[in-house]
Amino acid sequence: QIHLQNNERMPSSSDSDLAHVALLPSAGMGHLTPFLRLAASLTLQNVQVTFIIPHPTVSLSETQALSQLFASFPQIKHQQFHLLPLDNPSDDPFFEHFQLIKNSSHLLSPLLSALNPPLSVFITDMSLASTVIPITEAISLPNYVLFTSSAKMLTFFLCYPTLADSKAMDELDEMDVVKIRGLELMPKSWIPPPLLKKGNNILKNSFIEDSRKVAESSGILVNTFESFEQESLRKLNDSQLPLERLPSVVAIGPLPPCDFEKSQSQLTWLDDQPAGSIMYVSFGSRTALSREQVRELGEGLVRSGSRFVWVVKDKKVDREDNEGLEEVIGDELMERMKEKGLVVRNWVNQEDVLRHPAVGGFFSHCGWNSVMEAAWHGVKILAWPQHGDQKVNADIVERIGLGTWVKSWGWGGEMIVNRAEIAEKIGEIMGNESLSVQALGIKEEARKTVGVGGFSNKGLSELINMWRKF
Ligand code: UDP
Ligand code: UDP
Ligand code: UDP
Repeated sequence: QIHLQNNERMPSSSDSDLAHVALLPSAGMGHLTPFLRLAASLTLQNVQVTFIIPHPTVSLSETQALSQLFASFPQIKHQQFHLLPLDNPSDDPFFEHFQLIKNSSHLLSPLLSALNPPLSVFITDMSLASTVIPITEAISLPNYVLFTSSAKMLTFFLCYPTLADSKAMDELDEMDVVKIRGLELMPKSWIPPPLLKKGNNILKNSFIEDSRKVAESSGILVNTFESFEQESLRKLNDSQLPLERLPSVVAIGPLPPCDFEKSQSQLTWLDDQPAGSIMYVSFGSRTALSREQVRELGEGLVRSGSRFVWVVKDKKVDREDNEGLEEVIGDELMERMKEKGLVVRNWVNQEDVLRHPAVGGFFSHCGWNSVMEAAWHGVKILAWPQHGDQKVNADIVERIGLGTWVKSWGWGGEMIVNRAEIAEKIGEIMGNESLSVQALGIKEEARKTVGVGGFSNKGLSELINMWRKF
């Protein structure tokens, strides 16, 4: 088993051979987590890392995760990047923050130029590319992008500027496949809904502007792996996309969870549960379900007869979570759930749950980090994509045999999925032995690829060797 340990740094032939890499993440745990793991991986491979922290963060979990990283890796340097105050608030605080970081990005160049030793390369999130890359270009600093979703989503992201507001796309029915110069992308119904809307919105602007700039970067790192997304990775690297220019796309995942992420948690309950018996239910760090859907889900869990751990979330941002669990779920249902399940409302370290032997299934929204974590631990997924890239991710999960996706449930919030259906699907997946076996096979592949000689391991090592010479 590969688990990153923060051992002493290996002695290097000479310190001038060290690559110095600065990392700038975007907002939200879904974007921050892969940057933290990349920082740890690079440090363990003898790279000097400077982590740039946009300040303030949106959620408490981000602040906490950052301090855990720096406590475990004192050799990682960090720099606060103070964001300018906001002038026009949007209804999604995470998207708002993407914009805020962009609006402040001119403040980056003095910060970067002052770093010592000078930087070899800069790595940022795809959602910041359009404003951050020009800044690094101006100081002749090679700039890489860490794409925090799937390679399949990357193909779509890169092709989107050609498709945006096109007549061809308008005329398609929901189930029709979006094509671009002979290349089949995906059914229209999987596209993140804001990208199909007329007029401007933050996501659409990002997919147009950032996407163009990502294509001009020095290289794209993706938290995925060869056997998991072979076809998409081939399309990206065999110049099958209709793009004038595309830098190399390097699969470096699954970025392994680190020891510093483990917490002494409220999960001792799990220790007394039979192996593989638990369905873990969580829709990520920023997806709030409606009160009605929360109750149906709770009833469905009870009805399924399965044991479970359920992370209840009805606020997008954790700072706003202040109601008690009983208020959200109701005393009576809480009482009925006690026997078979653990219901929590605060942040649970997902890594602690997924690696626990009692956990046998994951009812997930298919945020890409969650998918990679399920693959890493060989836990099968019941997919219910809620928004954004998650239908695309759910399709990958289903095709590779890591899980099943109930397409008729649509996007989160599109309908109320009732308790009977939820209970039925949970029963089906928990009883599906062959899926568990497949999931274990995927776990083996995941660990092989980041182990010595694996594709993802080689991908990252080759990059580091190149950066040492910059
Ligand atoms: N996560 C966690 N505990 C929670 C919710 C989320 O540790 O209660 C972690 C999860 O393991 C993952 C990240 O937060 O690493 C969420 O990213 P993902 O891409 O799965 O979904 P998002 O939150 O961006 O929708
Ligand atoms: N949303 C969210 N997390 C995300 C993306 C969206 O909480 O990662 C919110 C978004 O702000 C909106 C709702 O979920 O309030 C539905 O989002 P969707 O992407 O489906 O867009 P819409 O339905 O507005 O077209
Ligand atoms: N995304 C992006 N630029 C943005 C906002 C989102 O590239 O300004 C990406 C995002 O990381 C994901 C997809 O677009 O791959 C869908 O966005 P969503 O916000 O739903 O996902 P999340 O931010 O939770 O990863």
